[in-house]
Amino acid sequence: MIAPEQGWVILDVDGTIIDQNDNLRPYVIQFILALKRDNIHVGLWSGGGAGYAEGIARKWFIDDLFEGFYRKSNAVLEVLKDGVVVIDDEAVVTTGKLIRVPSYDRELHPDDEVFKELLLHHLHTEG
Ligand SMILES: [Mg+2]
Repeated sequence: MIAPEQGWVILDVDGTIIDQNDNLRPYVIQFILALKRDNIHVGLWSGGGAGYAEGIARKWFIDDLFEGFYRKSNAVLEVLKDGVVVIDDEAVVTTGKLIRVPSYDRELHPDDEVFKELLLHHLHTEG
């Protein structure tokens, strides 16, 4: 499992779930759905602020999948439960566990499978 049950996974926006042209990264939706099925809370954060993060989610009709939108800061993580996992393309300093992913660029990597691999890792380590 990526995060403990009842834990949180916080996803970054730019370069993590979308590229510079707002293209949604493959398997992001499937990954989030798998986490939610296992009672893991999923949030979205951005250095651009909570409103920006929510706007991107709404643009892709996935805003209902997230339990919160946040401006990137450690204060956010501290109020969430234990076992926070941050998935980010930057080397953010986090109070939780950081899974750093390569930045997404659909033109450079049309067959990007980063979130497919995260999904398979989650499924294979279930229970
Ligand atoms: Mg980023």
